[in-house]
Order: sequence, then C-alpha cells, then structure tokens
Amino acid sequence: MEDAFGHRISYLRVSVTDRCNERCRYCMPEEEQAWFPKEEVLNYEEMLRVLRVGASLGIQKVRVTGGEPLTRPGVAEFCAQIAQIPGIRQIGISTNGTLLSREEQGVTLAARLFQAGVRSMNVSLDSLDREAYRRTTSRDLLPKVLEGIEAALTAGFQNLRLNCVLMKQQTEREFVPLLKFAAERGLLLRFIELMPVSSREVLDEQNFLSTEIARRLIEQHTGPLTALPDFRTNGPAAYWQVPSTGQKIGFIGAMTNLHFCESCDKLRLTSDGKLRPCLGSYLEFDLRERLRQGCDDEELADFIRSVVARKPKEHDFRQNYQPNRRMIAIGG
Ligand code: SAM
Ligand code: SF4
Repeated sequence: MEDAFGHRISYLRVSVTDRCNERCRYCMPEEEQAWFPKEEVLNYEEMLRVLRVGASLGIQKVRVTGGEPLTRPGVAEFCAQIAQIPGIRQIGISTNGTLLSREEQGVTLAARLFQAGVRSMNVSLDSLDREAYRRTTSRDLLPKVLEGIEAALTAGFQNLRLNCVLMKQQTEREFVPLLKFAAERGLLLRFIELMPVSSREVLDEQNFLSTEIARRLIEQHTGPLTALPDFRTNGPAAYWQVPSTGQKIGFIGAMTNLHFCESCDKLRLTSDGKLRPCLGSYLEFDLRERLRQGCDDEELADFIRSVVARKPKEHDFRQNYQPNRRMIAIGG
C-alpha cells in the first residue's frame, strides 16, 4: 500500500490496551482519566482479523504496544497467533519492562514472548536512579524493570532497545549512567523528543530538550559522535556512534527533524478499534463498528486502503497541536 505522498505502508502498531501500571508524566495527563470500558476494547480475535487482512495488503511488521501491553492477559498467546499469519515477518513489543520477569509455572513472561516469536523489544527506561524513576512514572518499579531487562536477555532477546524520553533538567543527569548501562549489556539506547501527546502543557520550554542539544551534551562526556546515516532500525531514529567504543546511540527527533515523516511506513490500531494513519494527527477512523456490524474481508481491506489514502504528508505536532487522545490511548 502506498499513500498520496509515497509512504509505503508495511508496519502496523497494535495497541492491546489503554491501561497501564505506571503513570508517566509525559504520557498521561495529570487529571485522572477513565479507561475504555471493556466492551469498547477489541478482543484478540478482532485484532487478529485486522492483522490478517492487513497482511494480505502488505503489512509485514507488527508492534504490540499500549498502554502497557503486558498488563493484558494472554498477550504472549496473542503474539504467537500473530506469528502464524502468512506475510508477517517481524513481531515487536514496546513495554515499560515492569512485568517481563513475572513467572508463570517457572517461565518468565519475557521467555514466553520469545517463544511466541517476538524478536524485537523496546523497553522504556528514563532513569537508573530509583527516586528519579519514581518521580517520572509515579511508581517505584525501577528494580522490577531492571529484573525485566535481565529476564529478556536471558530469554534470548538480542538488539534490545532502551527508550528514554528527553526531559529538560532531568535527562541531563541520566546520560552517563544510561550509556554505561546500555554499553555493558549491549543494548541500543535511544533518546526520544517529547511530543504533545498527553497534553499540550507537557511540551513547554521548561521540559523540552531537543535531540540536537542532547547529542551535544552527550559529546561532553564521550567526545564527538560520528553520524551513521546508513544505520537504521525500524523507525525514524537517527543513529550516531561513540568512536572510541563503537557504542551506537539513537535520536528520535519528532519535533525538530523536519524530515522525520518522510520514510514513515506505519498505521496504528488503537485498543478501542480506531485506525490512525498518523500519531500526530487528529485523523482516526472507526474500524470496530465495521467489524462488529459484520463487514466481510473485502470491505475491511477497502477500509484499510481508504485510511492509507488519508495518511497526511507529515504530523501536526509543530502546529500548536492539541491532542485529542492521550498517548496511552493511542499506542506509542
Ligand atoms: N508502556 C509501554 C512503554 O512505556 O514502552 C508502551 C507504550 S508507550 C506509550 C510507548 C513509547 O511512547 C514509550 O517509549 C514512551 O516513552 C513513549 N512516549 C509516551 N509519551 C510520550 C511523549 N509525550 N513524547 C514522546 N514519547 C512518549
Ligand atoms: Fe504507561 Fe508506557 Fe505511558 Fe509510561 S509511557 S504511562 S509505561 S504506557
């Protein structure tokens, strides 16, 4: 599938829940929000059907996300079923890592995900300082995350990626410990610019730290970094390297990189069954109603194609964007 601007769509991010066991400042608005009622959330069969039809249209990569995907029971079995869909070549998961080491009959959730065929894993980690981690996430779960990362490595995950959202006057203190932690375990560390996806207020001068400034601050510790224009993972991260050690560092500059959207290949399915052609746009299209009204696969395929046709050239984050949904209810 190709949209009007030449984006070739092969990647679907599926949010399996809007629920989470953490409360990250940048992801959830301050005020208490109600979760989606259970009946509004797609069941796994509905999601698998969308994935099957999507795969027949050229979707090859799937990322399971949320909210916190590992809070939804049966997520490993869901991943195993995704792996059975012809055409799906890669399954990834984005998690806060807090539940990866949880054991069921002596097997960790990380191991069950690996056995299910998940090969790409992103773990959010904003700080290695327990108190700072608690302030950002409102939960004292750093030890669990660290256990979870070890469980994932033991389970066989390679190229595990750590995602850190850049927050001014906060992340500056984390650069050295995070770089060291990632280097010691062979993890790929990425820094993400703050986006206005929970509320507009989170993205103000006081909080925003650009990838460019982050890189310069890191260079004060590592010496000049070398750009790696040809090194790519699945997304829009730009990678740099510490020449003396070879460590690679990713920078995801959604706000400041004007070319950010050029190679976008994604669609997003929210847990309440909306198909979104772009994270940073108000556009969303109701797939759940169609599914539940009994549309056939051809109608579903037409619907997916019509959403691709509406994919915008780029996100609206730079246009004083006021989010209509919290990040947690979209799926990062
Ligand atoms: N709960 C999982 C996790 O934390 O990784 C998956 C969902 S979370 C919404 C996916 C990613 O979005 C995380 O890496 C998180 O740090 C990022 N994220 C959330 N809010 C953000 C914001 N306002 N700006 C940039 N990234 C954000
Ligand atoms: Fe939960 Fe992930 Fe959002 Fe944090 S970033 S509140 S862990 S969904």
